[in-house]
Amino acid sequence: PRPPRSAAGATPAMAQWFAAKAQHPDGFVLFRMGDFYEMFFEDAQRAAEILGLAVAHRGEHQGEPIPMAGVPVHALEGYLARLIRQGHRVAICEQRETPEQAKARRAPTIRREIVRVVTPGTVTEEALLENGRQPWLLALAEANGELGAAWADLSTGALACETLPPAELPALLARLDPAEVLAPDNWLGRPALYPVADRLTPVEAPRDAAARVAAFFGVASLDGFGSFAPAEAAACAVVLEYLRRTQGTGMAGEDAVPRLRPPEPQGGRGTLRMDAATRRSLEILRSERGDTRNCLHAAVDRTLTAAGCRELASRLGAPLTDGAAIAARHDAVGFLLDAPPLRTALRGCLKGAPDMARALARLALDRFAPRDLAALRDGLARADAMAAALDEAAPLPALLRDARAALRPEVSGGTSPRAELERALAAELPARLEDGNLVAPGYDGELDALKQLRDDARGAIAAMQMQLAQDWGVASLKIRHHQQFGFLAELPAAAGEKLLRGAPAALEGTPHAPVHRQTMANAHRFTCAALAELDRRLAAAGEQAQKREAVVVRHLRALCLGAGAAIDAAAAALAEIDVQAGAAELAAGGVWCRPELTDRADFAIRQARHPVVEAALGRTRGPAFVPNDADLSAGQRLCLLTGPNMAGKSTFLRQNAILVVLAQAGLFVPASAARLGLVDRLFSRVGAADDIAGGRSTFMVEMTETAAILNQATARSLVVLDEVGRGTATWDGLAIAWAVLEALHDRIRCRAIFATHFHELTALSGKLPELRLAHMQVREHRGEVVFQHLVAPGAAEKSWGLHVARLGGVPRAVVARAGAVLAALEQRAAGLEPLAEELPLFSAPPTSVRPVGPPSGLPAVEPALLAELDRLDPDSLSPRDALAALYRLKMLH
Ligand code: ADP
Repeated sequence: PRPPRSAAGATPAMAQWFAAKAQHPDGFVLFRMGDFYEMFFEDAQRAAEILGLAVAHRGEHQGEPIPMAGVPVHALEGYLARLIRQGHRVAICEQRETPEQAKARRAPTIRREIVRVVTPGTVTEEALLENGRQPWLLALAEANGELGAAWADLSTGALACETLPPAELPALLARLDPAEVLAPDNWLGRPALYPVADRLTPVEAPRDAAARVAAFFGVASLDGFGSFAPAEAAACAVVLEYLRRTQGTGMAGEDAVPRLRPPEPQGGRGTLRMDAATRRSLEILRSERGDTRNCLHAAVDRTLTAAGCRELASRLGAPLTDGAAIAARHDAVGFLLDAPPLRTALRGCLKGAPDMARALARLALDRFAPRDLAALRDGLARADAMAAALDEAAPLPALLRDARAALRPEVSGGTSPRAELERALAAELPARLEDGNLVAPGYDGELDALKQLRDDARGAIAAMQMQLAQDWGVASLKIRHHQQFGFLAELPAAAGEKLLRGAPAALEGTPHAPVHRQTMANAHRFTCAALAELDRRLAAAGEQAQKREAVVVRHLRALCLGAGAAIDAAAAALAEIDVQAGAAELAAGGVWCRPELTDRADFAIRQARHPVVEAALGRTRGPAFVPNDADLSAGQRLCLLTGPNMAGKSTFLRQNAILVVLAQAGLFVPASAARLGLVDRLFSRVGAADDIAGGRSTFMVEMTETAAILNQATARSLVVLDEVGRGTATWDGLAIAWAVLEALHDRIRCRAIFATHFHELTALSGKLPELRLAHMQVREHRGEVVFQHLVAPGAAEKSWGLHVARLGGVPRAVVARAGAVLAALEQRAAGLEPLAEELPLFSAPPTSVRPVGPPSGLPAVEPALLAELDRLDPDSLSPRDALAALYRLKMLH
């Protein structure tokens, strides 16, 4: 929303609004006026629609009424959440002084200032955060011809960066699923950013990036944190500069610097690579429909805290490739699995444990409430209890030993934040800092004395009420407090009238002489010099107590921030234990096993299940999940899976890929035994491959994704592929599927499961020594098709389609006719068998192109066709070129 008109002739307050709006033309401006945040002009109208507010009018600007809509200050979070979720940015313009201060400096209106710009990637309020997910703010920057990415989570203080080839940007976006992306201006139109187009903010990269980042962390150079490429430093600098611009100065006007841990260079090293299509297909953190309920994370999450839930999500999103690091995680899970009492004790502490990382972040940003201090107090108490439970269980595996050390932070200077907070915080905490009474009696002598004074003055009021009742001769006299006038003596109408007509003569000239203040419908309000004096004393004591309490609160904040690194470490240890204990809990609830990880290309799995499908079946109380084995070990690395629709092919493909994700993320796997050679890249192409938004046909998407596999997979990769070539005409599709299978077998030599409808492909099993055939078992039982969901060796029976048609009620005559057509088609296709034996069409070695003679059993080939074939080097062709070549060949025939 843009301001439509010039600020000329605006009232002083509206002039401030125009200035604020000019700074943030693209976002809403929430303009503090007393107990409301107001929006004006188009902001008001749009917000009214989005938030269901009423539009009022406030004065005029240039002869027109000014539309206005407001939200109460105490309800801000809820309204903010709705605006932010819809992708809007909101600038918050606060009052920075009291009306008295403004009057004292003879200003026409109160000083107001934008204290913060709320954007999807910079939220920290609980109400605005999606639980269990990190709202990453991702920055992209170029330096020295390289692409750098840095991502921060302001709500927990995490910051990481890496340099990446531009082609891997989509995979990074898919992995982080960022809430907001900062990119250079000239990047905005790049197709790689289409998936996050609604979350893009253009930014300029700041100069002297490395020096800026070092300055932020208070070090002379970044080298101490690891080695950073210039592009990484540039991206970190973009993040920091953006935070500086949007996070303002904080409510209390003092430093409100976001707490970020020094950047960790990631470099994608050590993590299992998965591209966007693979993540989508495996539904790791979101289902294909985009929700977070029916995904792998939801199915295996047994954590009890928000921090543990986030940590698990980040592990599933970035499984490891370092065998030792993974084994350390498995050790911890195994240890807790075998120690149910310890697990129960730890989980007892975890249940309901507060989110310390987020509380600390809000403290640093000076955006905290009393409950955030309480969160640290209670969180640290839980941490201590967990450390004590772990003490009982020595000797611990390494991860748990490290976690135990971090749970008991050694604080330099001797003051433990936990002990201090326990002494400082009152038993009943107010909701907001302004409400007061946050500090427990006995913690701060000065505060107690001021409160005593205030309470004494309250006692004095009670005494004064009795005194005045007597002096003024009105027994029902009540002293009450009024917002505007302070303490006043209130008399019933009749008694008030009487006093008005004449006070007792003895009072004249004394401090108790009544002074009339206000006439109400059925009461009169009076004061007197003594009461006014008492009122002043009480207000002063109250104000001083409030000021002193603010000082104590600042002290507590400083104390916690000072111990920030230790608290962070304790919070991380808590999350670590939550993840491990959750994984153990999961494994204890069914048949799960510790996968044996090797450095060879092993893949032997017994009785494995798909955790999401299994959970879904469990909910419906339908038939139980049927476990399946898989063996892609050396000598049989490729599995060609056939079977009709609905037989369980996709489930089988996905479950094998998911097992790798779980195992390398450090969890146990849903199987009775599993030996897995570490996988470097995982490719899964199962399920819908539409790209409606990108405007590419299903076939084109399929080919692009297949190309990505053929170009990136290595001998250490695992590929699961469903129905390559289904998006085009049968022969094209078959040819492509054929070629892809050969490439996987001969050139890439990876482990792969390939599901297909092309029965003809099974002919390849005689030719590709590492290819094994498997099919999904289907049975006919009392005239119905029964899917066994069981993988069995060999190829599927061909005519299941006709069976199903008959069982489905298609008239007999039609089924019979279909049978005849099928037979005819099969006869025509018979020529394909010799093709598999002899035609090296797609398997020529990459360097030499063998001359192709007419294969036996096929008609003689025309010379032009031969010449064209001669020119082809199948291994260097992209799938798309292969398709084009096929068309050319067909035309020549
Ligand atoms: P396909 O890919 O062969 O069409 P799916 O893998 O989509 O089949 O499976 C179809 C349905 O069959 C699934 O939604 C699930 O309910 C059920 N199913 C699949 N595999 C199993 C299994 N191993 N045990 C039990 N039910 C299964």
